[in-house]
Amino acid sequence: MLRLPRLRYLRPPSAAAAAAAVAELGPRGMLVAGGTDLFPKLKRRQMDPDTLVGLAHLRELRRVTGSAAGGFELGALVTLSEAAGHPELAASLPGYAEAAGLVSSPPLRNVGTIGGNLCVDTRCNYYDMTYEWRRSIGFCMKKDGDICLVAPGSPRCWAVSSSDTAPVAIALDATAVLAGPDGERELPVAALYRDDGIEYLAKRPHEVLTALRLPPADGARTAYVKLRRRGSIDFPIAGAAVALWLDGPTVTRARIVLSAVGSRPVEATAADEFLAGKRPTPEVITEAAELAAKPAKPLDNADLAHFWRKRMVRVVVERAIEQAAGRA
Ligand SMILES: Cc1cc2nc3c(=O)[nH]c(=O)nc-3n(C[C@H](O)[C@H](O)[C@H](O)COP(=O)(O)OP(=O)(O)OC[C@H]3O[C@@H](n4cnc5c(N)ncnc54)[C@H](O)[C@@H]3O)c2cc1C
Ligand code: SF4
Repeated sequence: MLRLPRLRYLRPPSAAAAAAAVAELGPRGMLVAGGTDLFPKLKRRQMDPDTLVGLAHLRELRRVTGSAAGGFELGALVTLSEAAGHPELAASLPGYAEAAGLVSSPPLRNVGTIGGNLCVDTRCNYYDMTYEWRRSIGFCMKKDGDICLVAPGSPRCWAVSSSDTAPVAIALDATAVLAGPDGERELPVAALYRDDGIEYLAKRPHEVLTALRLPPADGARTAYVKLRRRGSIDFPIAGAAVALWLDGPTVTRARIVLSAVGSRPVEATAADEFLAGKRPTPEVITEAAELAAKPAKPLDNADLAHFWRKRMVRVVVERAIEQAAGRA
């Protein structure tokens, strides 16, 4: 049985105090919300903080406010189940609710938070393993080693961004509210990520994500389609978030963002531009999906064969566009 290491647990009175505590602790401290990703990783010794700075008791961060017309604000501690089951949110932005409802499994969605989902660690078959497994084959640069075992000549880590909700948030031009010890700032969710499997977040390590702001739907038609081995629990191995704005039968604007095909969510801008001004006919959707799949670069470090995953990107994009276009 894998056990957690011995850890100190702090319960700061506010998000600003949590950020101050992590800033003071440096690499010895880590934030924890639901712990659904962090606790298994600590058991596998993929990180080694000696102190966890808890957020779960901060009730003021567990609210959904706003409306379809004015935009929603989701506190970072809103659980994935709460986001997926919020009636008004699900009615106006079904793509976001679908993504939250497709994360992992019901017990983990009841505890896992939308903030933790945006900040969730990148994944790799050579990293998401026990300490003993990793030691037996030789550590990699993401933890304890100095080479990449997937691409040995590479100077960087290619671990995979595996958040289901981040691509939808980006497609909707959502922003993240970040609290530091001295105040808050807001930045686009698209700017929250770096294309690097190790330093995958662009926020300062101590900053606490306190809220996700989803702008007014403004007629957006959204969908999220996810590919994984077991529909009951697994992380995505490819996924497509789509937001379409139409004027009558014609697409005026499109956003397609892919999950699990790079170290950050991948924005398929060529496909977005191609769709604008066109009717989403089957031929147009097929061509858009071909374009969207081009920037996807799956490597041999996630479930199932990477060349098959690459081929399936086109399929998930096609289905997501069809679903979004078909929504009133
Ligand atoms: C078996 C299994 C299957 C899973 N399947 C999926 C899946 O299909 N899709 C998916 O997206 N995820 C999946 N996950 C990962 C995880 O359950 C979710 O991503 C969940 O939303 C994480 O939220 P949490 O609150 O539990 O985060 P935690 O585990 O508490 O934290 C995750 C990371 O985010 C940081 N963090 C948490 N909250 C904040 C905050 N407010 N501000 C700043 N940093 C913060 C933590 O420091 C940590 O680095 C799976 C996990 C398991 C164990
Ligand atoms: S991509 Fe390479 S460096 Fe990154 S976790 Fe995997 S093996 Fe390690």
